[in-house]
Amino acid sequence: MREFAEQEITLPTGPYEGRRFNCLRQPFTRLLLDEEDRRDPVTGYLYWRRRNVTGPQQCGKSLLGFVIPILYHLFEVQETVVCGVPSLDTVSDKWFEDLLPVIERTRYRELLPLRGGGSRGGRVSSVRLRNGATLRFMTGGGSDKARASFTSRVLVVTETDDFAKAAETSLEADKLKQLEGRTKAYKDRAVVYQECTVTTKENPTWCYYEQGSASRILTPCPHCAAWVEMEREQLVGWQDAESEEAARLAAFWACPACGRQITEGERLDMNRRALLLHRGQEVTPEGKIVGSLPPTRTLGFRWSGFHNLFTDAAELAAEEWQGKNAADQENAEKALRQFRWCLPFQPELVEGAPLDPKIVAKRKDNLPHKLLPADTEKFVIGVDIGKWQSWYLCLCFRANKRIHIPDYGVIEVHSDALAEEVAILQALREFRETVEEGWPVEGISGNRVPDAVWIDAGHLPGVIHQFCRESGTFPGGRWMACIGRGASQVQKMKYNAPARMTNTIRRIGDRWFISRVREYQSWLVTIDADHYKLRLQHGLQIPPTDDAGKPQPGAITLYDPGTDKMMRDMHNKLSRHFASEQRQQMMEADKGLVETWVKHGPNHWLDCGMLGSAAGNYLGFRLAPSGEGSEPKAMTVMDWLKSRNSNAYHRR
Ligand SMILES: [Zn+2]
Repeated sequence: MREFAEQEITLPTGPYEGRRFNCLRQPFTRLLLDEEDRRDPVTGYLYWRRRNVTGPQQCGKSLLGFVIPILYHLFEVQETVVCGVPSLDTVSDKWFEDLLPVIERTRYRELLPLRGGGSRGGRVSSVRLRNGATLRFMTGGGSDKARASFTSRVLVVTETDDFAKAAETSLEADKLKQLEGRTKAYKDRAVVYQECTVTTKENPTWCYYEQGSASRILTPCPHCAAWVEMEREQLVGWQDAESEEAARLAAFWACPACGRQITEGERLDMNRRALLLHRGQEVTPEGKIVGSLPPTRTLGFRWSGFHNLFTDAAELAAEEWQGKNAADQENAEKALRQFRWCLPFQPELVEGAPLDPKIVAKRKDNLPHKLLPADTEKFVIGVDIGKWQSWYLCLCFRANKRIHIPDYGVIEVHSDALAEEVAILQALREFRETVEEGWPVEGISGNRVPDAVWIDAGHLPGVIHQFCRESGTFPGGRWMACIGRGASQVQKMKYNAPARMTNTIRRIGDRWFISRVREYQSWLVTIDADHYKLRLQHGLQIPPTDDAGKPQPGAITLYDPGTDKMMRDMHNKLSRHFASEQRQQMMEADKGLVETWVKHGPNHWLDCGMLGSAAGNYLGFRLAPSGEGSEPKAMTVMDWLKSRNSNAYHRR
């Protein structure tokens, strides 16, 4: 395949446009193309049945992992190739932008069809070449009926990780597997090529890399002669730079074995002497690879920024510096890992175990049921409305910056005996009496009435607004109707923060705003529900105290149910509500993070908690002390996590 590539391929774009493809320019290409030709010593067939190729962006990955294999099999071997693409929209781009310009610069342009599929102006789905070979495009879609009867020895897949997404939204299980089914008839002569930038650990590209040969590129240090793996950590010197330009000037590569500086010239030489080691193999000081091949027929091939000679230490350091100083660091970090270093990205917020109901139920403070902590600064209640039952949850925002749940429960709604609107109104009026009696406070006599009661008005808004109006509603008052927005809400409407106050919009806070609702002569708080649900769920994961026994800001605690079985069961139920809905983030090739909320059970108390958390923010509760004279700034969970993991940036 290397011979074919070097003799037949002329580069259509990039810094060497119009020149012959030559492995010397990007030496890792030699390692891959030679490895692809490896034969099984017994059968003589190609050794690697699957070739999973991943690397940084814009350094010939598509040419190497997609275009060259297709052209090799179509023109050199002269056989039919199935090309797997994640969606039909991309077929024409793949043909006219990636494949055709390369073919037109080879002697095989004579074999292009003059009319029909693949000719200029023709529709692309199948291109029949004049040497008898066919290039057949197939997608991850389910309506491709012809797919079932079409077979081929060779399958070439591009943007592999996007197939994982396609599989989730369809009844048919795994699109990648379905495509592979087209090669079944050829048994161990079949070959599958797949190429993609790396996204998350769970997606196919990284899984196939790790479970396959997990091959590593080793290069010899010019100083100590050790065979070393050059990765992101080896780009140094730029970290303390004051500006991007300073980072550019200060950056250099350092050997992980001896720590000495490697110049760009030495880097080129190192890359030209590179060796490819498969999982479990070692290299002797003389450069001899020892150890047998791992028990897999999947070649997992990966290269990184050090091996991409289209860039250098200065260029990469400038981008690292920009990323470190970007407003959205998570996004910048994602881009650097995916597009420059070929490392999977794990969003910080979903790192670690999802919320575990069993653990949540044990987060108790030693306060008994209904008793408010002595240091309660703000006391709020969130209410979620249902036809047969409504739910309430109390939150105490404390001086020690912890949040305590002294009470929560169900409000019966008698929709069996009354019209639903009437039943809800009646239930809320009864609940108001309870609220006005207040809750006892640790260490003082007399009860405390909540500062805010925020009620979800997503269901029967007219009724909720009527109740709030008759209870006395105004910005700053106790009773407020609310609506949550975001991917976790039924309507899936995005939360849009208003840019400025208007006649209607009267207050804008941290991911909430208050507007006047003329229709009901009332007020409405619109809340970024995803944000406040995440905050609540993170509060349930922060240990209540640190190692020294000091209360941890933002940590949420529950009242102590003691030995009461019913109260313990309630805590378990509450915990399931809190955990029943969880955010999932998926990385999609070239799209980045896509967020969804997965719900698997009732979540009413989570909704109550979301309303209460937003109310706490509205009343001025902040985790971090505000600077002198400045506006109090809310610390988000993201900020908090970042401050905790301030060196996470340099972690691989
Ligand atoms: Zn060294």
